[in-house]
Amino acid sequence: MKIVDIRPTTVTVPLIAPLRHANGCHWGRFVRTIVEVEADNGLIGLGEMGGGGETAEAVFRAMNGYLRGHDPARMEEMRFRIANPTASLYNNRTQVLAALEFACLDLVGQQWGVPVHAILGGKLRDRVGFATYAFFRYANPRIGRGEARTPEQIVEQIREARDRHGFTSHKLKAGVFHPDYELEVYRAIAQAFPGDRIRFDPNAVWSTEQAIRFGQAIEGLRNDYLEDPVYGLHGMRRTREKVRVPLATNTVVVNFEQLAANVLDTAVDVILLDTTFWGGIRACVKAAGVCETFQLGVAVHSSGELGIQLATMLHLGAVIPNLSFDADAHYHHLTDDVIEGGLMPYEGGSIRVPDAPGLGVKLDREKVRRYAELYRELGGYPYDQDPLRPGWAPVLPNDRWADPNDDRVPQL
Ligand SMILES: [Mg+2]
Repeated sequence: MKIVDIRPTTVTVPLIAPLRHANGCHWGRFVRTIVEVEADNGLIGLGEMGGGGETAEAVFRAMNGYLRGHDPARMEEMRFRIANPTASLYNNRTQVLAALEFACLDLVGQQWGVPVHAILGGKLRDRVGFATYAFFRYANPRIGRGEARTPEQIVEQIREARDRHGFTSHKLKAGVFHPDYELEVYRAIAQAFPGDRIRFDPNAVWSTEQAIRFGQAIEGLRNDYLEDPVYGLHGMRRTREKVRVPLATNTVVVNFEQLAANVLDTAVDVILLDTTFWGGIRACVKAAGVCETFQLGVAVHSSGELGIQLATMLHLGAVIPNLSFDADAHYHHLTDDVIEGGLMPYEGGSIRVPDAPGLGVKLDREKVRRYAELYRELGGYPYDQDPLRPGWAPVLPNDRWADPNDDRVPQL
């Protein structure tokens, strides 16, 4: 089998409401680039990457020059061809490599007639559990609903997701408001769902002293972990010395160099593996093996996904023995998907691991057309800007918090 064409298509899929985070906002939609890798036998493998739009499309088109004629089964060769670590000093293509690896695994699986999880060592579970991913949200300007700003609104958002999808662990994406206010919100979640597990992620915007103060204040709750309270391994290490809650990261351990540093002088307890940030599903499986050896916790991170990326997370979650927590996914905030059959269903807080050959998902061409058109209409959005706070950017550590009494609705 040989690669004959790499075709990117950028799509925009609407979210239920704009999602706020420490650095800005998802402006009511996700922008994702779908990558189709066609082989000389007519098979098409699927990949997906976040954001980028026209820039991402140009990069993927340029990869034709590197990979036309390449055997998709030779994924290690592909890694050195497009993402050699020293060449990457000039042009980092880790995320591009990830999307192309997904597509190559999809192609090889289809060719061999086996699901991707079988190529990766075989599944240990049929379903992967997920957490509610609760966000502070602006109201959806089209319908005037969906706002989450107060403790009651966040609890309501979780209750709705829990009733609908069966989640029993809940993550709050935080770092938007002053930590004292967010502590109140987090305690309200713990109180509303006393038997469930909870986790908190302020996206590394606190000072170490603030992280220690907050971490100590939540010690009695049913925490999975406190995720990225501060930026940098040293701040995490200082926090960990004084807080008896496991610390997690998707920020400061995202490659093997950093993983080694964390093993030699531990700063983080739980490594959140992201199939995009690490450069593919196989890199995450290898990293999970290192974590197994050194008894570090592992979970699956979400950097925003449509069905193709979600499939990579499911295959990863299926094959790693040390998956000790429910996975994260933004997926339940989406209004639709570009794969056949629409959004994959949750049942009892989990999603079935696909067993069809390859990644096990196919594109719904009509939806790809519709959402590519929506992307052309709306264009990209600045993920690191807040639509209602023009010119604002957080400093690290942050002291420029949003106002919890501000109930304006952005016009997007
Ligand atoms: Mg995070």
